[in-house]
Amino acid sequence: MNNLIRDIIVVGGGTAGWMTASYLKKALPNIHITVIEAAAIPRIGVGEATVPNLQPVFFDFLGIPEEEWMRCCNAAFKGAVKFINWKTDPATNGGDHFYHPFGLIPQCDDIPLTHYWSFNRKAGNHMPPVDYSCFVEPPLLDEKRSPKTMDGTRVTRYAWHFDAQLVANYLRDLAIGWGVKHVVDEIEGTTHNEQGYLASVNTKSGSVYKADLFVDCSGFRGLLINKAMDEPFLDMSDHLLCDSAVATAVPNDDKRHGIEPYTSAIAMKNGWTWKIPMLTRFGTGYVYSSKFTTKDKATEEFLRLWNLDESTPLNQIRFRVGRNRRAWVKNCVSIGLASCFLEPLESTGIYFIYAAIHQLVRHFPDRTFSQGLIDGFNNEIAGMFDDSRDFIQVHYLSTPREDTAFWRANKHDLVLSDNVKEKLEAYDAGLPINPPYVDEDTYYKRFEVEFKNYWTNGSYYCILAGLGREPKRTLPMLSYKPGNFAQADRLFQKVQARAADLKAKMPSNYEFLCRLHGNGELSRTADVSG
Ligand SMILES: Cc1cc2nc3c(=O)[nH]c(=O)nc-3n(C[C@H](O)[C@H](O)[C@H](O)COP(=O)(O)OP(=O)(O)OC[C@H]3O[C@@H](n4cnc5c(N)ncnc54)[C@H](O)[C@@H]3O)c2cc1C
Repeated sequence: MNNLIRDIIVVGGGTAGWMTASYLKKALPNIHITVIEAAAIPRIGVGEATVPNLQPVFFDFLGIPEEEWMRCCNAAFKGAVKFINWKTDPATNGGDHFYHPFGLIPQCDDIPLTHYWSFNRKAGNHMPPVDYSCFVEPPLLDEKRSPKTMDGTRVTRYAWHFDAQLVANYLRDLAIGWGVKHVVDEIEGTTHNEQGYLASVNTKSGSVYKADLFVDCSGFRGLLINKAMDEPFLDMSDHLLCDSAVATAVPNDDKRHGIEPYTSAIAMKNGWTWKIPMLTRFGTGYVYSSKFTTKDKATEEFLRLWNLDESTPLNQIRFRVGRNRRAWVKNCVSIGLASCFLEPLESTGIYFIYAAIHQLVRHFPDRTFSQGLIDGFNNEIAGMFDDSRDFIQVHYLSTPREDTAFWRANKHDLVLSDNVKEKLEAYDAGLPINPPYVDEDTYYKRFEVEFKNYWTNGSYYCILAGLGREPKRTLPMLSYKPGNFAQADRLFQKVQARAADLKAKMPSNYEFLCRLHGNGELSRTADVSG
């Protein structure tokens, strides 16, 4: 008798549950997969901004072209995160902004352009801000340009905004079409075998469902992993202070205002507000810390930001920040909010889902559940999460804002890992943080390479220098190579020239999205990014 897994139960029908079911069915078509979701327990319903590898790592694996799922999910483009007011209180200083675009920074003699930028600045030479100097995208984003030409050719790197409910429904229909069984019922209990493995789940309607492997996608409840398996959740609210959000959708007159091709992250008194534009509306939510403000005060501040009245329907959310000590215990794997959550700055939630599913397939067990596979998976998930936590932390602790107790606490009181301290020391000494070490093609085409080093020099530099925290020193090696500077200048000029050229010829985001959602023909997929 072979030991192969024959039955999987996925608990939860949110984005995590349906992403897991569809991906696993595609990867392992002979396994029976059942998704159980409770009609009375709604999905979280937020999670609308993504990162660029969603298409290659997830949808391409499923065999779904971008245009197809975009049309079904009211999807739009996200060319960057635009950080607004993260340096100064707008009440006193009129506001500030910088972008964090995607993609790797060009290099000159194996040293990223960011470091020539910093050298020039310290030498007193005029340089535009780091994002405008090293990336083509910022001037295009300012003008709300599409990242694709009207015939569908990708010109700049981008991710997506989408309607989270539509995505879950789309994946649900797809998975059911591929043979995944869907049960709408509420799980009330579990049984275990003598080794402590999950044997079955019992539902409110009196049914019992058995499986070899259980995937917990039950959201913040952690129904199987935390409750049934008793695995502790490592709370990291001393690393990141935000724990609550108030969210809504705001109608947008697209024709009049256009559609911004980026996520905005607007700093507030006690956190920040996301703005995620799609056709006809934008999703928005104020992420705040309940240690520094109340739900009522945060709601008032949020409504004022968008000029909304008190009758606006609001989604009040409380979240936990941290991860399970082990994401996988015995025959129970947690994915999505049941596994880990960082607050939504930099949109890591959905990325963590498909990165975890990818790792699950790589470590997929048989019914002997070898501990080596389980430990390997758990190490990957812990590394992925902790590394991202450190990157998000860098945003908060590097801001010069100190105008409220919240911002002061972020700057002075956060618990920092050794890893983040070492990174900041390296940055101050003039070293690139996490340089990719491979060319752009290899980096983006081999997910394992990207996964192992997700936040590279470009990301750290955009945030740190964007917040005004430039390295204390220049990289000494640059001074030994004065001949490099002419070549670096040519690269800077190339970036500027390409930005000007694209600004003149790219269509507006609004124009492109109208065409896409109006079912215009988009046949070309060739990548012409420079
Ligand atoms: C404020 C906020 C903003 C966010 N913004 C972003 C973003 O911009 N980008 C991003 O990538 N991510 C974001 N995320 C994360 C993203 O929302 C989640 O990663 C994603 O929605 C996955 O959620 P989930 O499926 O794990 O949980 P949920 O959506 O909560 O789904 C849980 C499912 O479990 C089911 N369930 C629960 N209990 C039972 C039971 N007893 N029996 C049966 N079924 C049960 C429920 O019915 C539901 O179907 C955000 C999260 C928050 C909190």
